[in-house]
Amino acid sequence: MMSTPGTHGRVPAPLRGLPDGFERAAIIDPAAIRHNVETIASYVSPAKLMVAVKADGYGHGAVTAARAAVEAGADWIGVAHVTEALALREAGIEVPVLAWLHTSQTDFAEAITQNIDIGISGWELEEVAAAASALQTPAHVHLKIDTGLGRNGCTVAEWPELVARAAEHQDRGLLSVVGIFTHLAVADEPDRRETDEQLEVYQAALKVAEEAGLSVSLRHVANTPAAFSRPDAHFDMVRVGVGVYGQSPFADRTAEDLGLRPAMELRTRVANVKRVPSGQGISYGLTHRVDRPTALALIPLGYGDGVPRIAVHAPVQISGRTYQSVGRVAMDQFVVDLGDPDTEVQVGDEVVLFGGDSGISAADWGRAAQTINYEIITRIGGRVPRLVADSSGPASAAEPGQAKAGRTADAVVGLPGAGSLEEDSP
Ligand SMILES: *Cc1c(COP(=O)(O)O)cnc(C)c1O
Repeated sequence: MMSTPGTHGRVPAPLRGLPDGFERAAIIDPAAIRHNVETIASYVSPAKLMVAVKADGYGHGAVTAARAAVEAGADWIGVAHVTEALALREAGIEVPVLAWLHTSQTDFAEAITQNIDIGISGWELEEVAAAASALQTPAHVHLKIDTGLGRNGCTVAEWPELVARAAEHQDRGLLSVVGIFTHLAVADEPDRRETDEQLEVYQAALKVAEEAGLSVSLRHVANTPAAFSRPDAHFDMVRVGVGVYGQSPFADRTAEDLGLRPAMELRTRVANVKRVPSGQGISYGLTHRVDRPTALALIPLGYGDGVPRIAVHAPVQISGRTYQSVGRVAMDQFVVDLGDPDTEVQVGDEVVLFGGDSGISAADWGRAAQTINYEIITRIGGRVPRLVADSSGPASAAEPGQAKAGRTADAVVGLPGAGSLEEDSP
């Protein structure tokens, strides 16, 4: 299906455990992000790399992710909303940024002022042109064609008119059409022919644009799965998200198979341990009862923290051993059956839900919760502090304690051998 790029870059030395004072944290390793960016960039070269940091960097912190990506050579940053792009500019991210999902409330004038490229699927074109005219500043736009996904993007039927209008506005100096792009629907299943069909529609759309007098320098199509499995979709640039965070987009390939390293580790501490008799029911609905005397560990993370309520038999590592969750996940907590009334697990022992060197992946949690790794990492909630712990000491380690990226560094903890560590509060 695909070849696997070699692992390279810095040697990982992940933070071991939660620092004192932390009850729970999503520990984010910018070194892993840099490694993944370098790995994917070398794989798709000479195509450029746009790194998607929408939805707060898939839960990792948009600015943390964007900084690490840019340090590792990412050419572009991609987000859904102009508001996300503006926040990156405010945080000092200066590379080109593209935002592609707009509403009637989107501030296109501010986007133009802050030099943010705007994805255009249809109605936005006239609004952007009007804003550019008022500002006397040309807008940089990327036209988006819907080649089959059926979401955003201009229909094939309306494409000739969109490119004609865009060419007119460009001739008047209101726009610069920088890119033409589309988004793939089934690239995570590389053998499906719909991707071939989408690429054919895309090629035809490029031709129509060229005939309308548009010559663009950035044709971009591929997401993470296509970056790995469809070299014929690389064009001038690929837009990658999940792979940069060290997650595999494929059901049958692990991140390790792809040479990627997970950038988020979700940790907490055991809140309670108790012995219970056979027949003890667990959590709301009593959907589970233990069938022998055992001990239960209480894990203080729940759906209020983004742990899916629907997850059952999800893997959890406590002090190096892997157990399973039992019963329903509640708002603040869930329960793990330790399987032994004489367990050595104690209150305060560290718990890893996924990531780090636990051997448990966000994809494992996805399987336990009928969803995918994308959702598991992205939905980790605001009650979980993000701790940025660089395992190989980046340039920014030289300035610990400074507010990072428009956010307050609430805590800076020196950890020998662990590079820099700071809390990135939402
Ligand atoms: C989110 C997104 C991407 C990145 O997708 P991954 O599968 O995470 O690599 C690329 N392009 C668009 C338009 C997106 O919305």
